[in-house]
Amino acid sequence: MSWSISPAIAFSFFYWLVSFCFIASPTEFQSAGFTIQSLFSNLLGSEMLNFVDYHIRRTSTTVIFHASIPLGYFIGMTFVGESGLDFLEISEWAIHTGWQIYFYVAVGIFLGATTLVFYWYMNGWTNHPIVQNLSLYSQQWKELAMAVNAEFRSIDKYTSSPSSSSSLIVTDNWIIKSGPYNVVFVHQDFVRLSVGKTEEYHVSPNSLTTVQYVRINVQPTKKHKPFGIRIMSTDYTEFKAKLKVEVHADPSLTIHRTSSELFLEAFKDQVLKNPLHIVDRMEQYGNCIGCDQKPASVKLIKQCADENEGDCENCNCNPLWCLECMGRWYASRQDQSSPETWLGSFATCPMCRAHFCMLDVSIIQQT
Ligand SMILES: [Zn+2]
Ligand SMILES: [Zn+2]
Ligand SMILES: [Zn+2]
Repeated sequence: MSWSISPAIAFSFFYWLVSFCFIASPTEFQSAGFTIQSLFSNLLGSEMLNFVDYHIRRTSTTVIFHASIPLGYFIGMTFVGESGLDFLEISEWAIHTGWQIYFYVAVGIFLGATTLVFYWYMNGWTNHPIVQNLSLYSQQWKELAMAVNAEFRSIDKYTSSPSSSSSLIVTDNWIIKSGPYNVVFVHQDFVRLSVGKTEEYHVSPNSLTTVQYVRINVQPTKKHKPFGIRIMSTDYTEFKAKLKVEVHADPSLTIHRTSSELFLEAFKDQVLKNPLHIVDRMEQYGNCIGCDQKPASVKLIKQCADENEGDCENCNCNPLWCLECMGRWYASRQDQSSPETWLGSFATCPMCRAHFCMLDVSIIQQT
């Protein structure tokens, strides 16, 4: 018996490996563009412009594509020749019957999936799970879809770090969990959220760094099935900031915060101790140019040392930033690998690049 690899075995190995990668979709595969999203981008349209429609098409395409994999293997094997299976040393009759059964099952899966998608597609997709889901909230699902699209286009939304199979998006009104075959939309006015548990993983056996995940139970009050979402604890604050509803958490659970979050707190503490910058009541500064949400509230004034001493410089810029954004800016200018040095360090003014330290940040107060 020779050990040269028959074409059938080589093909089988390659085919199932690629198929597995398509289904499990590891990040390396995603970044190489081997995803349904990039393969069928013309058919799917733009997620940014037309979020709901895009995902109706994406889930339908995924169902059909995945269901065609077994049949694709059969077709491929008829080209490379099923005689390659002789190595199994079972009778020709058994191989033949086995193949026949395989063929019927594969065709069955494929036809089942196409029928399902066709059923979804009838009457302008009204049977699709996404449309059924949106219809829980409004009779006019198309109008609702347009509202969701508009919220998705806003840059002010929470998006979970992309993972292999599912992702989480929180917009002004919606919590959206997207998976390969479905996308669930839950309106924030009709939901109860609670922290289920936290899970910790060591990044590597030799390091003390742990990654913590927070499991959140989502219990919609409309006729949805409850489901769970899992987010990194470092994303937790950002996630919560985008929510209109409380997340009920057992007080005994500790959710690790990031070093930059802890820093932001220390930064605020320091700035609140610094002298206030008194301005005339008539002075108008507008919103912070960082977040465009809060009013600009801080001014940089050299006050850590005398005029000609030290490295800090005077900044003549108008107040343009809120306290949080200035803190984040400051943190972003620091050596990310050694947060313990941040408090005593410098940053430069985002506009004029004057050096400043934490003692030079003053809250504006109008008389
Ligand atoms: Zn801001
Ligand atoms: Zn400046
Ligand atoms: Zn200074």
